[in-house]
Amino acid sequence: MSAAIPVRSNFEAMEGYHSPQVSAEVRLNTNESPFPPPEGWREAFEREVARVEANRYPDRHARVLREALAEFHGIDAEEIFCANGSNEVLQCLLLAFGGPGKRAVVFEPTYALHAHICRLTHTEVVSGRRDANFGIDPDHATAVVGEAEPVLTFLCSPNNPSGGAEPPSLLRVLVGQVPGLLVVDEAYGQFAPVSALSLRGTHARDGGPEVDGQAALVVVRTFSKTWSMAAARLGYLVGHPEVVAGCEQAALPYHLSAYTQAAGVLALRYRADMEARVALIASERDRVTGALATMAVQTWHSDANFVLFRPLERPARKVWEALLEHSVLIRDFSTRPGLEGCLRVSIGTPAENDRFLAALEVALR
Ligand code: PMP
Repeated sequence: MSAAIPVRSNFEAMEGYHSPQVSAEVRLNTNESPFPPPEGWREAFEREVARVEANRYPDRHARVLREALAEFHGIDAEEIFCANGSNEVLQCLLLAFGGPGKRAVVFEPTYALHAHICRLTHTEVVSGRRDANFGIDPDHATAVVGEAEPVLTFLCSPNNPSGGAEPPSLLRVLVGQVPGLLVVDEAYGQFAPVSALSLRGTHARDGGPEVDGQAALVVVRTFSKTWSMAAARLGYLVGHPEVVAGCEQAALPYHLSAYTQAAGVLALRYRADMEARVALIASERDRVTGALATMAVQTWHSDANFVLFRPLERPARKVWEALLEHSVLIRDFSTRPGLEGCLRVSIGTPAENDRFLAALEVALR
């Protein structure tokens, strides 16, 4: 018997986010790290798991984790909010500051979950646009936020799926002008040469009075990519303590398990390993980009752990299917507005990248 209870009507508009979980030997479709966390982390985590008082709720304020992150960034624990992946951080931001009658600005094409979570929380989405190279024109951005008067403006730097980091000049223009929060999603931040974290502090409006940029700027990060911990589901934001307090009110009680908190605290002890992984992936990204430049594809500069490309002589879907026949799974964006004909490959291990490049040579024929 089927239950005749319809799901919320606006769910229909939200289809199309999930990447299909097709089985393949080489999985380069969700921008995870191809490397596991260090062995030392695993051993320490197992010891920590044994120490957790499983019958007790976890620390609701994730104090130890937030203090460890605060030390990592050289800021106060009150400026940090942690949740189950950066997606939950984004959801808490929208629950706390968005909602019916409120607007949020995104610049498409970008990470689909920004608009998706807006809709889930009944926050109206106002879409600005990116140019053919996925850059945002500062005058356009200023006009869009000026008209929309959003409570939240989302940037994604580096932008998923196009790969480029937003130039600091754009961030400086926006941080002084957005009326609400400027949320910079830096899920891939450590792969890029620039970070919005450097803009924390006081900023000058163009030709106008100084404003306290700290209240406006929120930087969101994750342990899913650079920290090799996608399975743990841990993300956080750096922002004004009032933003943190708002998110804490929106989050469910005890939402972040003791195991997740412990995993994060321990990960931060392996910073050098993380930086070595990031450097290797960045050099592999440049190698893959260089190889793509010799093939019949259009590519865009990437500051992240993935590369967007557009096959020029065969339909993208056919190329995606041909890669899958070689057991190489990448992400098909070819029917997404603004990304017509585009595919995205995540950077894997050197051997996986070789498999991808060899399969692509064949798939493009
Ligand atoms: N932001 C961006 C830009 C992403 O690409 C992703 C992962 N696809 C996330 C946030 C969410 O990551 P997580 O919830 O695993 O932290």
